[in-house]
Amino acid sequence: MDRIGMSRRELLAAGAGMSLAAASGQALAQEAIGQPLLGNPALPEAPGQRLGWAIVGLGTFAVGQVIPGFADARLSRLTAFVSGNPAKAQDLGARYGVERIYDYANFDSIAEDPAIDCVYIVLPVGLHAEYTIRALKAGKHVLCEKPMASSAREAQAMVDAARAADRQLGIAYRVHFEPNNREVLRRITAGELGTMRYISADHGFSANPDYPPHKWRLEKLLGGGGSLYDIGVYGLNTSLMMLPGDRVVGVTAHYATPENDPRFVEVEGAVDFRLRMASGINVQGSSSYCTSPYVSRQRYFGSEASIEMQPATTYDDNRILLEGGGLPPREFRAGNPMSQFAAQVDGFSAAARAGEPHRTPGGMGLRDMRLIEAIYASADTDGAMVALNVEV
Ligand code: NDP
Repeated sequence: MDRIGMSRRELLAAGAGMSLAAASGQALAQEAIGQPLLGNPALPEAPGQRLGWAIVGLGTFAVGQVIPGFADARLSRLTAFVSGNPAKAQDLGARYGVERIYDYANFDSIAEDPAIDCVYIVLPVGLHAEYTIRALKAGKHVLCEKPMASSAREAQAMVDAARAADRQLGIAYRVHFEPNNREVLRRITAGELGTMRYISADHGFSANPDYPPHKWRLEKLLGGGGSLYDIGVYGLNTSLMMLPGDRVVGVTAHYATPENDPRFVEVEGAVDFRLRMASGINVQGSSSYCTSPYVSRQRYFGSEASIEMQPATTYDDNRILLEGGGLPPREFRAGNPMSQFAAQVDGFSAAARAGEPHRTPGGMGLRDMRLIEAIYASADTDGAMVALNVEV
């Protein structure tokens, strides 16, 4: 079995004796970080040298993906948990060797804790701005989950707070560290699809109001907005990732929420949007809380070839289907998607240490919040064009 087909456990086991796997894993990490590792590049940094991370909010994503992802990190280590549930935090602390446990009331005292360099906010969206700003004021660098905040106004306040504190602020757009999406970016920017013409992005799932992590997503105060905030933002951000240097000049959108669906009283259930780019490319997106099965699909059409990714933005199973260019269709993977979690935190640690912006900085999150607000503004007026001038 090749390394792409391996589980994390198999990869770790194989790494002990397989120099090829180790070398390619290291190349991935270096590529993600964007700069050479310090010292001997064959070795991860000693634990005491790595930046210390506090995880804020021990929910589904933090426990299932973020925390286990640190096992493969080379520049980052877990040093603290922040939670409203002390028993859960203690249990996880025992499992991961994390002794420092904070709650939301004593959170500001992390300022006195030298073992915490970076804070990762994995809370419901409505709490992102408050905890990001508190962490920045405590003198810590902050990586905040997507979407950045409840509004562009909050997002701007977060960017301002990072500047005032002279600390790095990143938004956890993990797709920018995912090897298959990096490969698609490389191919598009190298001109392998010819001239880019059109992108389509479809992202959705069926929201279950009885499942606690979905419940807050359906409430305006904690969710910030609806499907576009939570799942549609992947299509928006990933599409723009593939168009570096372009500019959004206009947005049109229509809601597609089913009528009288009791789930969607406070937030929209579905919205279709179209971004008009300065290059002439259109990006067409659909975002939904009311479709089954779960969809995460990106399609890139060029004058000579096209790429479909389905799934495109998942944790562990992204694929590339390349068609055109005079060759038979080819489906392949460029790397193990699971590497994105360690690559993202190591990328942020490297940026924080160097005093340089993260690959997906606060400004990118602010840009996306402005676009989300423009999409809602167009949908509120039944598809009227909202003119913009937003650099990608
Ligand atoms: P969960 O509901 O599973 O977890 C959220 C956690 O936040 C809770 O477990 C709780 O942790 C804490 N919390 C504090 N206050 C509240 C409150 N008032 N209501 C609910 N929870 C609260 O959500 P997810 O893990 O699915 O999402 C968390 C964040 O991660 C969101 O920003 C989401 O957008 C993002 N996310 C990102 C993904 C990605 O792929 N990048 C994927 C999934 C989510 P505790 O008990 O420890 O206090």
